[in-house]
Amino acid sequence: MTERLNENLWRLDIPLVGNPLKNLNSYLITGDRNLLIDTGFNEPACREAMLQQLEELHVDLNRTDIFLTHVHHDHSGLSTFLHRPGCQIYISEKDGTLLPAIRNDELWKKRYRRCISNGFSETETRALWGTNPAQTRGPEPFDHYHFVKDGDRLDYGGYSLQCIFTPGHTPGHMCLYEKEKKYFFTGDHVLFRITPNICDWLGVEDSLGDYLVSLDKIRDLPAERLFPGHRVPLGTLRDRVDFLKEHHRKRLQGVMEIVEAHPGLTPYEIAGRMQWKIKARNWEEFPLVQKYFATGEAKAHLDYLTVRGHLTHRLKGIRNEYFIL
Ligand SMILES: [Zn+2]
Repeated sequence: MTERLNENLWRLDIPLVGNPLKNLNSYLITGDRNLLIDTGFNEPACREAMLQQLEELHVDLNRTDIFLTHVHHDHSGLSTFLHRPGCQIYISEKDGTLLPAIRNDELWKKRYRRCISNGFSETETRALWGTNPAQTRGPEPFDHYHFVKDGDRLDYGGYSLQCIFTPGHTPGHMCLYEKEKKYFFTGDHVLFRITPNICDWLGVEDSLGDYLVSLDKIRDLPAERLFPGHRVPLGTLRDRVDFLKEHHRKRLQGVMEIVEAHPGLTPYEIAGRMQWKIKARNWEEFPLVQKYFATGEAKAHLDYLTVRGHLTHRLKGIRNEYFIL
């Protein structure tokens, strides 16, 4: 169902069936040309919800450009399906370059080989192939992304949106800020009730470090209305940023304590000892895809500590094991 947020501004509620994120907030600005911010997975439930809500608002896709806050498929999945000739799909260059790569089997083989050294079993890695939504449910191949840079402006329906480069959640995450109205579209950079997943990325040395810098970058924006990628906003931007920074500080401390008490664990084993807000009694009962994201998050914290000289890691056989330095 659509929700009117202000003149020419709507929220479209896209269900993410079976996903702990529950929904995606897609935002639509209407005007001479429309701008759709984020789209949902490339799967039937998202597609139907999107089409039904676009119809409810009488949206002409031939006059609709699309902005993707980041590469993740719950945001980018339907972009090529909704794109019409002559329209733009905006995304940062970093994430735009990752989009086709994410459909590349060779790259996934490389990622899954790394899963093995991070502690996943061969059986788990084989089961991940084809079931991981990060690997499937993405947009069709597309060659004409319009790359946006930090500071670029997009004008739609009386809204002047400034692109703010906020890497961390993904290497090229972008937020949008409407300075006059003090509206802030946070994508997955800042979420409420749930914390954005911060994973390690191929080619990124320290994604948590990048994320924390990107939190400071937007902390003091005088944002009055917040439009996150999932769920509903709660409280002020500054309070939420401070909470998220504290959340990662505690997690870093927790990871240090685990490595200190149990030297030689893999990221997978460390993730199994961390605290998670998920409906599973123990690590063994974690859904496999959630283990994948949890291990990625553990790895991002391990990278942060390694880059700063607190930890070191060694390859023992195929195991990547962590120790206090
Ligand atoms: Zn995301």
